[in-house]
Formats: sequence, structure tokens, C-alpha cells
Amino acid sequence: MLIYIIFLNEVLELKRIDLHMHSLFSDGELLPSELARRAQTLDHEVIAITDHVDYSNVNMIVQIQEAIDDINENWDITAVLGAEVTHAPVESIDDIAKKAKELGAKIVVVHGETLNEPVIEGTNLAAVKSKYVDILGHPGLITKEEAELALKNDIYLEISARKGHCLGNGHVANIAGKVGNKLIVNTDTHSPDDLITFEKSYQIARGAGLSDEESKKAIVDNPRELLKTKGIL
Ligand SMILES: [Zn+2]
Ligand SMILES: [Zn+2]
Repeated sequence: MLIYIIFLNEVLELKRIDLHMHSLFSDGELLPSELARRAQTLDHEVIAITDHVDYSNVNMIVQIQEAIDDINENWDITAVLGAEVTHAPVESIDDIAKKAKELGAKIVVVHGETLNEPVIEGTNLAAVKSKYVDILGHPGLITKEEAELALKNDIYLEISARKGHCLGNGHVANIAGKVGNKLIVNTDTHSPDDLITFEKSYQIARGAGLSDEESKKAIVDNPRELLKTKGIL
């Protein structure tokens, strides 16, 4: 409890970073600007708009860039252009991720093998082999071998705040603890109510079985480190 209080005091000044969010450009309920405004009022420092993409719509990334630029020019919150490669044939994942990067996406998430949806088997493996992927979202029952490849290729594993996707959090945290993976807590926001406070993100990390120190890494240090490698922070 004492550590928890010290930790909360220490992070009181820190703002949230969320690198997995959906807007109206895919199946989210809000425009990027609406998302950014709501995130701003909930003390977010950085949000990434990572709408679902496959070959059919990956070109829309160029259009989302305009919304991102507008937010960054006018508001005191940083919006990052991203994409989430979703339910794509396993063989195409690397190439769609590459295309997303070429079109301007800074953060590429892959929609991993969540326990909540019939994601194609082999999606986790294809994601952790790709040099264009940054985060494996909600990886469900990720194997040790997949986690080792993620570590080798500097791909972060997600602890998800999202209902359904969060069913795998305990397993993901456990494997990551054994292999040494870097974790990131994201909301996978689709609607306004999905946005969370800093304290809630800490509770989600602790609920996944992470220690205080590991939780801090997953919600503060790791997302910052990833954004630094992209030249965003
Ligand atoms: Zn979605
Ligand atoms: Zn997803």
C-alpha cells in the first residue's frame, strides 16, 4: 500500500499515453479531434489514432494525417498517426504494415490473437516477425516462442483495458515476465467511455499481475521510450 501511495504521488504530475485508439475512420465512434479533446480533458499527453486497416483501406492513412496535423497545430496534446493491421491474411500482415509506415503511420499495431474474436491463427507469429510492427495488440495466449521473437525484434506486447481482450492480460504479463518483454497498457478505445484515467491504467496493470515497478514501466516508461525512438517525444 505504501509503495502504491509513493508511486501515485510520483506519477501525479505525469500524463497518460495511449497508443491504441479507434476513430470514425474505422469502427470508433468519434472523429480524431473529438477523441483528442476528450483525452486532453482526461490528462493525456499523447494519443495514437490506430484505425483498423487491411489492403482495402490502408490508403486512408493519408487522410487521417490531416486530422492529426490539425490537432497538433492547435491543441496542447500530441496526436500520433498510427494503424492497426486487423484480421488480414497472415501472409499479408508484414506488407500491410510496411505500406502503413510508407504512408506515414508512426505506430503500427497488429490486432493479435485475442480470446475474444476468431483472429486467424498465425497472426501473432506474423506480427512478431515483422520489422514494421511496433505493438502486438491483445495477444491472447501468446506462446513463449512468439514472445521471444517480439523481444528480439523490439515489439511491445499490449496489456489491454478493453473488455474481452483483457481476458488474456494475466497470461501475457506472465509470459512477458519470463521472457523479458516490454509491455504497454492501452485502452483500444472505440467510444468515449473507453478512455481511462492514469489511476485506472495502473489498476489494470496491477490486475494483470504486474508489480508496482513493472506497472510503472508499462504505463509510463515503455510508451515514452517507444515514442522517443520515433522522434515524437
Ligand atoms: Zn475495432
Ligand atoms: Zn485490435
